[in-house]
Amino acid sequence: NGQSYRWQRVLLKVSGEALAGDQMQNIDPKVTMAIAREVATVTRLGIEVAIVVGGGNIFRGSSWAGCSGLDRSSADYIGMLATVMNAIFLQATMESIGIPTRVQTAFRMSEVAEPYIRRRAVRHLEKGRVVIFAAGTGNPFFTTDTAAALRCAEINAQVVLKATNVDGVYDDDPRCNPNARLLEDLTYQEVTSKDLSVMDMTAITLCQENNIPVVVFNLSKPGNIAKAIKGEKVGTLIGG
Ligand code: UDP
Repeated sequence: NGQSYRWQRVLLKVSGEALAGDQMQNIDPKVTMAIAREVATVTRLGIEVAIVVGGGNIFRGSSWAGCSGLDRSSADYIGMLATVMNAIFLQATMESIGIPTRVQTAFRMSEVAEPYIRRRAVRHLEKGRVVIFAAGTGNPFFTTDTAAALRCAEINAQVVLKATNVDGVYDDDPRCNPNARLLEDLTYQEVTSKDLSVMDMTAITLCQENNIPVVVFNLSKPGNIAKAIKGEKVGTLIGG
């Protein structure tokens, strides 16, 4: 069982951007397979894993709103549907290597996936299944980071593990400034006051109000996902 590890139940947030890898395609199957393999190793240790997937690799509502008369809500619904595509891809990959996985959507698509039912999600986790939450919060004007914080609080997961393409949170943009320093520990206060672009304000505030620590780490480094889930030191830890 997961007793000897730091976390017993985690909420892994995988952004759409991370799923795209360095390919020109929307989804890089090497990335989904790497996620599946590492999640498989930790579920075997008894750690319960829930996943929230983003959709930015396919469609981001905010950047399309306004185009050709597309209002923000409609654009956001398309964005939420994009997350469902990613979720099904990830589920299929996980099941191809034998990890029982359920997708739950924030709005009904009953022929494709289960609707989100909190108690049912928890039951799946207790049975060792991975649960992928799709369609964000189900509401326009929100993000999948907020969905991650919300679902984490709802299912009593202990941490939000935010998988990105950078090693963690830096004091400056590491792509522009070679002297940018990786910050290993941050408070919520530091994140919001220094405007460190970790998550949107709604998401980070929800974490803060519910004392949910957030780990920001690089998913493209082999072994990092498993490390983060097992609670080993990786990336940036935000808390306190
Ligand atoms: N979205 C939304 N409500 C939510 C979550 C997501 O409307 O609760 C929409 C929004 O348009 C967003 C898109 O879905 O741009 C994809 O999600 P997000 O940008 O959070 O994905 P990520 O950045 O993680 O790839």
